Amino acid sequence: MDATDSRRQFLRQAGLGAAMAALAGPGAAAASLAQPLTAAMQNNDKKKLGWAIVGLGKFATEEIMPNFKDCQHSRLVALVSGSPDKAKKLAQEYGLQEKNIYSYQNFDSIKDNPEVDVVYIILPNSMHAEYTIRAAQAGKHVLCEKPMATSVEDCQKMIDASKKAGKQLMIAYRCQYEPFNLNAIERIRKGELGKIRFITSDHGRLVKPTEDKADTWRVQKKLAGGGSLMDIGIYSLNAARYFTGEEPVEVTAQISSDPNDPRFKEVEDNVAFTLRFPSGVLASCTSSYSYETVKRGRIFGDKGWLDLDPLSDYDKHNMKIGKQDGKEEPQLKEGNQFAAEMDHLSECIMQNKTPRTPGEEGLRDVRYIMAIYESARKGKAIKV
Ligand code: NDP
Repeated sequence: MDATDSRRQFLRQAGLGAAMAALAGPGAAAASLAQPLTAAMQNNDKKKLGWAIVGLGKFATEEIMPNFKDCQHSRLVALVSGSPDKAKKLAQEYGLQEKNIYSYQNFDSIKDNPEVDVVYIILPNSMHAEYTIRAAQAGKHVLCEKPMATSVEDCQKMIDASKKAGKQLMIAYRCQYEPFNLNAIERIRKGELGKIRFITSDHGRLVKPTEDKADTWRVQKKLAGGGSLMDIGIYSLNAARYFTGEEPVEVTAQISSDPNDPRFKEVEDNVAFTLRFPSGVLASCTSSYSYETVKRGRIFGDKGWLDLDPLSDYDKHNMKIGKQDGKEEPQLKEGNQFAAEMDHLSECIMQNKTPRTPGEEGLRDVRYIMAIYESARKGKAIKV
């Protein structure tokens, strides 16, 4: 019996029909959380840290909030939003107390709420710094979405604020908590692919600011900081770093955006960039807002290659390995990367350990992103 089955059995025995439905999907999860808690569940919740979500947009409501159901150490207790009606409705669905709804204006008073241990920032990119710093000043630990911020200076201010407050700051690099990526890293470190020579990774999708509300700020430089590179190219960049386990020493890049496409008046579309690592590995990466969805990576070693396609999706990952004696397709079990990521931070807080993807990890990527922009602008390689 796997964990899901045993949980289903427990819930069935406890007669929690609605909570059972929570395992069926996000909508059902929302309904179930409004049910009264049993004593057993309340006791269990005492072992969990309380989380507040800041910014109730697409990613927060569709991916993050529903996945607290699979957390062992984290529970949703508060919401921060500029849309009071939406916040109230979601609070009701998730069984949260109305007093635990905050606006951006009264957010700082969250310092007086002992139920909130961790604040998860899921706002447009350029707002990450302000809300991370305010959360740290309110004495809260922070999980902040990628990209960490839109400048290296802001990243440093976020790290400094969390250090000053004596609180944890983690960046939400969910792929580093995802089983297929972790398995690939393990195989590379064990030498299964031999000496790594080359990496390729592509991340693209069609940005649709007139159709999808979540894309409207993505094409505005002030809110997004940049285009496809900041939003999804960062997955290629981060993957090249965790696959090699090295930091790049040089970047080269080219950018191409259609000047007649209104989507790219302020932010870039296509980016091709190459990272050179100290061992000699080259990582050749692309990101785009104008090709159909691709989220893949390939690692080339002298004993074999490993494909992850997709590499960075929410589910349905796929791994292929090719060696001289044939191909294999390892059947790995999908995991809940969102729950794993949130629980990792809760556990680090409880055990006073530094998370796997701290603020410094986010700062490094923003520094490399800036070097990629500089390389494209100047038309030359940039040492980093
Ligand atoms: P959305 O636009 O759907 O959500 C952003 C939310 O922020 C809004 O719904 C709104 O919530 C709040 N907000 C406050 N001020 C503004 C403003 N001026 N303009 C727009 N929204 C504002 O975006 P996403 O959910 O797609 O992205 C949010 C963050 O999450 C980004 O940093 C993105 O990079 C990251 N992300 C990460 C993913 C991952 O896989 N790790 C996937 C998708 C996004 P309210 O109405 O409650 O105030």
